[in-house]
Order: sequence, then C-alpha cells, then structure tokens
Amino acid sequence: MKQIVIAIDGFSSCGKSTIAKELSKILTYKYVDTGAMYRAVTLYLIQNHIDFNNIQDVINALEKISITFKIDEQTQIQETFLNGENIENEIRVNPRVAGFVSNVSSISEVRRFLVKQQQELGKLRGIIMDGRDIGTVVFPDAELKLFITADPNVRAQRRFDELKAKGNTTTFEEVLANLTKRDYIDSNRDDSPLMKADDAIEIDNSKINQKEQLELILKLVNEKIGLKA
Ligand code: C5P
Repeated sequence: MKQIVIAIDGFSSCGKSTIAKELSKILTYKYVDTGAMYRAVTLYLIQNHIDFNNIQDVINALEKISITFKIDEQTQIQETFLNGENIENEIRVNPRVAGFVSNVSSISEVRRFLVKQQQELGKLRGIIMDGRDIGTVVFPDAELKLFITADPNVRAQRRFDELKAKGNTTTFEEVLANLTKRDYIDSNRDDSPLMKADDAIEIDNSKINQKEQLELILKLVNEKIGLKA
C-alpha cells in the first residue's frame, strides 16, 4: 500500500485526534498528536517555574526536554512521556496546561524545536499527524490535508462531556471560554497561525456523526492510495 502523509488541522476540540486514531488503526499508519507535544513543553515550564515570557529561559529549558510516545499494551492507547515520565493524563486534565499552552506555542523557538521532531517522525511517510500547522508548515507536501471545523458550542459540549467523564469539575462556560481563547491565539499568532492550507479539504462536523465523518474521510483516502472502501 502506498505510504502517504495525512495532515489533519483545525480548531480546538473538533475531534481531530479521534479521526486520526481511527484512521491509523485502519491504515496501520503511525499517529502523532502534535498538540500533546506543545502540552508537554507547557507542563515542563509550569513544573519548573519557568517564566515563558523570558525567551532565554525557555530556550535553555528546551534543551532539557525529551518527548516520546508509547502505546499502552493493554488499552492500545498512545501515551505521551516527558523525560521518561508518563504525563498523558496530566496534560489533558491540568487546567494550567490548557490555560497556557497557546501562549507557549506562540513562541517561535518552541515551534522550531517541535516541528523539527515532527518532520523527523514523518520522514518515512505512512503517518497521520494532527495539529494546527501540519498541512501548512510541518508537511506542506502532505498527500491528503484535512481541515476540521465545528460550531464552538458543539465543540465545547463535547469537550465538557469528556472532562466530566474523567471526573473533572470544570464548567461548560469555562471550557467554552478556554477553547474560544485558544482558537483566537492560535489563529492570530505571527508564527505558523492556524489556517486552512489552500489544498486542504474542509470538513464541518457539527451536524454529522463520527461514522459519517469516517466514511467521508475514507473515501478521500481511497482516492489517494486506492484503499478499498
Ligand atoms: O490539539 P490540542 O488542543 O491538544 O493542542 C493544544 C494547543 O497546542 C493548541 O491550542 C495550540 O496552541 C497548540 N498547537 C499548535 N500547533 C500544533 C498543535 C497544537 O500550536 N501543531
């Protein structure tokens, strides 16, 4: 089977990682959640009391950061490790990570540090990567680029339900405020702002369910690699 790069970009909480995980199982492709990498850097800066407005301190910190992924044997879920420690849960539920990650990811030095690693991970192709700048900056030559959107209220509700299921007490209003703020910063930063690549296919999933969305995307993949629908 032809090995391609599938770039999935879009706003916060649009279900990009769910799509990416489903596709990686079907295609037996590698999956990289680049948001987890930005969250990991943010967690490191928080844990080590590093002021992210002090660029030199951030640059020094980057030298001490190693981010890796491992698949949990039992659950088959991909987990993120920071300097060998499993931080998967922490980066998802810690409100300070969600609160600061968009500021940290606006720093060019942080982006260069992570983009280099992302390009390295995808150099053999056969990979699905989700984020904000995959189709525009990380893999401008990706064979398939998807740009996922959905109504902010629908997205906030989905994220709220997810957090609630994990026992988190954040309110719907707080979730909506956080994702609106992140979308604004992500779309308006100077370095690699979130935007649809000219050759990306836009999918608004506000009114379609996961199964319909997957069918639609598999058709697009099929056109690229001749996978049987
Ligand atoms: O995808 P997720 O919501 O986990 O991403 C967290 C944050 O990381 C985003 O709001 C964005 O600020 C940043 N990010 C980015 N570029 C990427 C992936 C994520 O700037 N490729």
